[in-house]
Amino acid sequence: MPEDCLFCKIIKGEIPAQKLYEDDQLLAFWDIAPQAPKHFLVIPKKHVSGPGDLAPGDDSIIGALVRKGAQLGAEQGITDCRLVMNNGAEAGQTVFHLHMHVLGGRALAWPPG
Ligand code: 5GP
Repeated sequence: MPEDCLFCKIIKGEIPAQKLYEDDQLLAFWDIAPQAPKHFLVIPKKHVSGPGDLAPGDDSIIGALVRKGAQLGAEQGITDCRLVMNNGAEAGQTVFHLHMHVLGGRALAWPPG
């Protein structure tokens, strides 16, 4: 785990977060600056900087992450939700530990800005 990774610090409990779900592979927590009435993040506990850094051996983690994100969304009342990963700074990625946003609770426009 890189020392300076914000989300690794959340995983280690060094920075507080409102956790929604946790198992040995994944952590889900509410976004600190929500962009929709319901907005949480699902991250792998393994440090991967972003989608472009995934290895073939990570496929099962990402499958579990997507499935869990949709399941948690449904449990939170947002069966219709957007699951999105920003890949790289120009795409809007600001935290370089892979994360999937789950957003819902309002009509979401497409395409995003
Ligand atoms: P990105 O822009 O990299 O796709 O998304 C990073 C997300 O992490 C943003 O939505 C931002 O609000 C959220 N975030 C940044 N710092 C923190 C934090 O300390 N705690 C929580 N819960 N969310 C954070």
